[in-house]
Amino acid sequence: MSSSTTSRGAGSGSKRRLTALLALLNPVALYRKRPERLDDPPPEALIGKGVRFVNRIYILRMIGLGVGFFCVAAGFVQHPVDWPLWALLVFHGFIWPHAARHWALRSKIPYRAERRNLVLDAGFGGLWIAAMNGNLVPSAVILSMLSMDNIAAGGVRLFMRGAYASAAGFLLGWLLLDYRFMPQSDIATIVACLPMLALYPLVLGKSTYDMSKKLAERSREFEIVSQTDGLTRLFNRRYWETLLIEEFERCRRDAGGSGHDHGTCLLLLDLDHFKNINDTHGHLVGDEVLRNFSQLLRANLREDDLIGRYGGEEFVAILRNISAADALLLSQRLIESARDKHVGDSPLRGCTVSAGLVPFTSDMEAHYVWLQRADHAMYCAKEKGRDCLVVWDAGLHRTHGKIQAATQAA
Ligand code: GH3
Ligand code: MG
Ligand code: MG
Repeated sequence: MSSSTTSRGAGSGSKRRLTALLALLNPVALYRKRPERLDDPPPEALIGKGVRFVNRIYILRMIGLGVGFFCVAAGFVQHPVDWPLWALLVFHGFIWPHAARHWALRSKIPYRAERRNLVLDAGFGGLWIAAMNGNLVPSAVILSMLSMDNIAAGGVRLFMRGAYASAAGFLLGWLLLDYRFMPQSDIATIVACLPMLALYPLVLGKSTYDMSKKLAERSREFEIVSQTDGLTRLFNRRYWETLLIEEFERCRRDAGGSGHDHGTCLLLLDLDHFKNINDTHGHLVGDEVLRNFSQLLRANLREDDLIGRYGGEEFVAILRNISAADALLLSQRLIESARDKHVGDSPLRGCTVSAGLVPFTSDMEAHYVWLQRADHAMYCAKEKGRDCLVVWDAGLHRTHGKIQAATQAA
């Protein structure tokens, strides 16, 4: 049954690809508004979008059309044309880039307007080819530069739209002008095309490189935001848990089933009676205390320790490459350091901390067992009267406010 599902899936996949290909070859479908998809942004969200795109294309267009002017002009010198064509060429080469930018920026959705301008550019390209009587070198240069622009700016769809616009421009030129096919290019025309050939790919390449660099920076920024807790700037729970899983797997691999304890400990911390802070001073002060506590964590733990906010006023840390004894000392110092600030207007507003510490042992079957044990040890610390640390131990049982075996307490 699974094989028939797979082959049906593959069949429908290739059918979809064929439909997409046919749509690309069909000019009516290409220019028709595509049906809205579920993940499309709402139309009002697009308003004003694409200003940076317009400005990027503006520079490319100014250079491309400015240098391209000389290619077509050389073709016009080789096969002379009337002055209206010269006037149109001057307009397209030197005035249109500014007009196009102005037009796009003033429209409701600059991004869409700019794509339309790119299609118009392609249409102009077709017209120049007809006006030059198919002069081969400038025609090929113009067509390839326009294609490069369109595929870089809008993928295959914009490229195909541009191709149809060029064909339409060419047809218009053929009908309106006295078209005769004269593909030979003289040496002056070829030389006039060289700057375009040399310069424009460089400019387009640089612009694409700058954009991909910016995109990479953005994606790194997004990655950091998606891993960080907004209030404390520590790792958020979701990301921190992925780190815990990785660390757990690493410890398991290193343990090799030998049953030895390894140098990673899990520390879970909970602020004591934190609700009172909110109730007495308000949520803003509560937030401030959470931020101050996260700074205290950073200051007291080591650079390599992976600290996260687990939820509300609960924090977690993966202490790597450390012996259980050192982890105990480090955690005790942290709790004492919070206690030192246990005075009226202190950064923690008198809050103390209860914590549970669990060294990795290879008998844990999954990372959540590690977490459960830390949670268990932390609640034992609460039951011991708070403001202390409990290290998890196999014999640690919690019974209604009474701890039967707690190995260590700060
Ligand atoms: P215990 O000593 O037993 O841990 O008591 P507690 O008051 O610290 O714990 P409890 O779970 O009763 O209350 C936690 C409070 O933390 C309740 C919730 O409103 C508050 N809290 C959770 N997240 C935030 C936050 O982001 N900002 C602020 N200001 N308060 C928060
Ligand atoms: Mg609490
Ligand atoms: Mg809590």
